[in-house]
Order: sequence, then C-alpha cells, then structure tokens
Amino acid sequence: MLLHGKSISPGVAHGTAYVLDVGEWLSAALAVKASGSAERELGRFDLAAMRAISQLERVSRQLKHQGRGDDADIFGAHALMLSNTDFRQRVLSRIRDHGASSEAAVATVVAELQDTFKASPQPFIQDKAADILDIGRRVILCLSNENDREAHSSQIVVAPSLMPSEFVRLAHQGIAGVVTESCSMKSHTAILARGFGVPFVTGIADAVSLITNGATVLLDATTGRVLVNPRDSERRLENELRQHIAKTAALTEPAPATTADGVPVKLLLNISDPLESRAVGQFSLAGVGLFRTEFLYMDRPTWLNEEDSFAAYQSVAGSVGTGELHIRLADFGAEKCPAYADIPVNKNPSLGIRGVRLLLDREDILRPQVRAIARVAQQRPVTVLIPMIDTLDTLQAIRGKLVDACDLAPGESLPFKLAAMIEVPAAAMMIDELIEYVDAVSIGLNDLTQYLLAADRDDELCERYHDALQPAVLRLLHQVVTAADAAGKPVTLCGELAGDASLTGVLLALGVRRFSVSRSHVPLVAKALRQADVAQLTPFAAELLAQRRGQDVRAVVANRFQ
Ligand code: PEP
Ligand code: MG
Repeated sequence: MLLHGKSISPGVAHGTAYVLDVGEWLSAALAVKASGSAERELGRFDLAAMRAISQLERVSRQLKHQGRGDDADIFGAHALMLSNTDFRQRVLSRIRDHGASSEAAVATVVAELQDTFKASPQPFIQDKAADILDIGRRVILCLSNENDREAHSSQIVVAPSLMPSEFVRLAHQGIAGVVTESCSMKSHTAILARGFGVPFVTGIADAVSLITNGATVLLDATTGRVLVNPRDSERRLENELRQHIAKTAALTEPAPATTADGVPVKLLLNISDPLESRAVGQFSLAGVGLFRTEFLYMDRPTWLNEEDSFAAYQSVAGSVGTGELHIRLADFGAEKCPAYADIPVNKNPSLGIRGVRLLLDREDILRPQVRAIARVAQQRPVTVLIPMIDTLDTLQAIRGKLVDACDLAPGESLPFKLAAMIEVPAAAMMIDELIEYVDAVSIGLNDLTQYLLAADRDDELCERYHDALQPAVLRLLHQVVTAADAAGKPVTLCGELAGDASLTGVLLALGVRRFSVSRSHVPLVAKALRQADVAQLTPFAAELLAQRRGQDVRAVVANRFQ
C-alpha cells in the first residue's frame, strides 16, 4: 500500500511500524500502576488533559472550517466536559486518596460517570455516557503516548500526532522515522525531527488504523511517500527507495567560510539535544548558534539541577571545540512544557507567561541554569540567548536576575556574552534601543512571523498565513539586520527560514551573513552559501523590499533568485 503525505523532515528510512495507540484501553488503563509520587501522576494527568483539549479544539475548528458545524460542536462539547473542574477533581481524588495511576484514575472516573449517565431517566443525559467514554479514551491515549514503552532504531513510529516531549523521548530511543496524521511545519515537533535528522511524514489521514503494528514500512520523507507492506507490484518502488536510503546515508557537505565571491559567512547549528552537536564536527560548522535547552527538561521526571545542566552544556562544548556556543535560557511555554512542570497554563499560552517572562518569576528554574552556564563560560566563550524579549523593561529586568544568579560584586561583568532573541514585533521595532544593552542579537523568525502576522505556527490551518515571505516580515527582518550591522554587533538568523536553501540568496541579499539551521538543512544551505555571489545578489534587496504582497515577493524570488 502506498500512502502520500507531506514531508516534515527529509530523509529516508525503513523499519517496522510502532503504532502509538491503545487497544483494550479501559481494562488496560485500570491495570496501570502509579509510577511515582501523586504529584508526578497529577502532572501527567494535567498534561494529557491539556493535550486532549487542544486536540479536540483543533478537530472542532477543522470541522467548522469544512462546514460541518454540528460535528464540530460535538468535539467542542467534549473539550468543555474535559475542562470541567468536576472531572478533574474526581481524577485527582483517585490519584491522591487511592494512590492510583493517572490511567487507572481516568478509567475509574469514566466508568463511574458512565453508570451515572446510563441510570438517568433523561435520554439526553444517557447519551453523555458515550461521550464520556470517548473523552476518557482520548485522555488515556494521550497518557499512553508518554508511557515508558520502548521504541527501537528499526522502528517507524505511527501516531495521530506527537508532542515535542514525546518526540524527544522517542528520538532518544533511536527511532528510524515517524508518520503522523497531523503536524505543523513550524511546530517544535517538526523542528526537533529536523534537528535529530529523523525522517518524518505527516498528513496521512487515519494512519493509526491503516498501518498495523509490526508492518514493514519504507519511508521516503523527502517526497512524502510511505510504502506499507510492499506487494509484488510495488517491488520496483521498494528497490528505488532502498537504493535512495543507501545513497543519502553517506551525504555530507562541509560548510564554507565564505561565499563564492569571498564574502565571509557563518553556518551554525540549531540543536535541542547534546547528541545533535556532533554535526558541528561532521560538517565543519562554525558552532552551535542556538541550543534550545528547554528540551533537556522534557524526557525526565523533575526539573534539571545545576550539575545535570552543566554536564549537558559541557558535552555540547566538547563537540563544538573552538567554535561558537550560544546557549538559550530555557524557553518554556505554549506546547513546550515538561509533564511535571508547575507553571501557569495561560488562557492563550502563546501570549502568556512564557520564555523570559516565566524566568523572571521563577528563580528556581533560572538560577541553576545560569550558574551552570557561568561554569562553562569560565572555560570557553559562551553567549546566552534570552528568549522572547518583548521590551527594554524586560531586558533590563532579566539582566538584573542574571547578575544576581552569578553572585556578581558591584561593577563586575557577566561571565558570558548576552544576546536578545528578536521574536516579538515590539522588540524588532525597538531594535536601535535594545541593541545597546546586548552583545548580539538572534532573530527567531518562527515566532516573529507568528506574532507579526497573528498566525499560530503550531496550527496547520494557519500554515498559509504563517508566511515569512510576506513583505512585512522581510522588511522587519531587514530592519533588525541593518540596525545590528550599524551597531557593529553580530546578528544571526535562526528561524526555520534560515534552513530553506532555496531562499539563501534572498537572505544574503537582505544582509544576513550568519545562518543557524537544523542538522537536516545543513548540506543544502552549505552548498547554497558556497555557490552564492553576494555582489550579484545585493542589488535585488531594494526590489524585494519594495514589494507589496506575498505573491509579488514570490514572483521576484522566482525570477531573480532561482
Ligand atoms: C524562533 O522562534 O524562530 C526560534 C528560533 O525559536 P523557537 O523555534 O525555538 O521558538
Ligand atoms: Mg521562538
């Protein structure tokens, strides 16, 4: 069977299917024993419920979009039932008072509510019995996705969707590839897959029903093809894919230090895990341009302490050698939230207490991390990236907290360089003022595009609106690059656009010289940089910036750059 989806992370893989689904879910859930303290179980339940609510809301929006309002209302109502504090209270009391696991607590509450609903004389209340069963199944499915079942290097994970924390856990187990029903291109799960170099195809409707556990799967994630249990008539395609797998495994392209006409450029690596930093040596990269440290906190039961953080940073420093090392302070919030995290769930997480705002409130998270970075900085130069800077007020406040965390005497300077991540439009607009207070800036174009265009980067329905080629985005990008150049401070582009080799010429024309990209983007961006002639590209900057519509920018790109 040949299935067609969309490529999230290129590459090819073959293996057996590992389907993340539960079969006899209710009885299986009842048998699950608590794996830690009640607090840990409560954390697991809250995360799974949050995830289920966001799935339900997404399905509801999709159905509405397709004009199926009545169906959409059912999923909307499920989300409401799950948000209901009574349901949560019942689950919590099973966990606290009876020492139940989250799975068993949910299954018990579902069974109790079912009995109550069925016993009602009112038909519309009886109908709720089926709803509650459906909701319980969904929450348990979300919980089971973060169970400790092991996937292996020869396995291709098949799931409805994956949270970043689930992906990290599976990547650590060494999975060969991923197939999901949904995933947005700019989501952190997608970014992680590119970083880990795990081939990933999405957009396969009903994948968890179509692909059975243990099926043979050949994944061509470059073109989005998924070949399941190849039949005789599909042998030619199978051979073609197997040859492709063998060829691409050997592909490495060392990064250049200059473009074809001798303009100095830097190609750096975005990482989320120390393992990924090995690519620095493999591709002769200039270093790690963005270490998304928040992912170190995902695949574990508690917050990281100073020692654990130090060990992780040391390991990256070892791989980077004499190259640059940019460590980002943990950027928690929205969907980046560890299962045990006692951090606020905002009404609108993308606009809530996230990134630097959370760190300002949480010395217990900030201090061990900063002290660990300071220890690395005693041995080699380090730049600390501050995520989600919005205003100068926030920048000055976090600087004060960093000074406190390092126990500096008055007048003593920080042991590391400081860079602001420019991801919030307000920060981009105030770049001339902000830049005075930092040593460098890093443009997080994924979030900058999201906030500038009011288009959720995690929502597949918004994908066409999350468009970094809109003139508004390009002009703001250019403004930040120009301001940093004028101040003589390094500016690095580290959003996903930096990894799109078909746009390397455009970015060079706009003045970008430092690119920080995921591992799977390195070979093509390295090649594009090596072949680029900046003198020829630069005159097109004015033309690009003069465009009024996204489609006009695309026309210029097609005519002049490709
Ligand atoms: C960005 O927003 O572009 C960025 C680099 O940060 P992250 O993708 O981790 O949010
Ligand atoms: Mg960001």
